[in-house]
Amino acid sequence: MIYTQTTEAYNKARIIIWLKDKLELFWCLDCPLNTKELLEYYNVHDNIWNSVASPNDGMLCIGCLENRLGRRLSRNDFSDAPINHGYFPRSDRFIDRFNSAS
Ligand SMILES: [Zn+2]
Repeated sequence: MIYTQTTEAYNKARIIIWLKDKLELFWCLDCPLNTKELLEYYNVHDNIWNSVASPNDGMLCIGCLENRLGRRLSRNDFSDAPINHGYFPRSDRFIDRFNSAS
């Protein structure tokens, strides 16, 4: 078998295909915005998310998660999940929070 993509590229392509046409999964719980359209598909540490939401609640844009937390997000809030590292395009706000020290 000839591999034409790295495993990471293959997985990324599969995820992007799966996410296509699944916009309904990405509506923010608290505002009328869509986190996929906002480019705010991110992952925070479980203790951060679970302090203001339940694991299967859905999605929150960064602004609405910050509203629930009562503070701005910073680098230490984000997990090491690939989606936090430019796996998908990221909004300016996402990049700003990801690059900000606690
Ligand atoms: Zn929101």
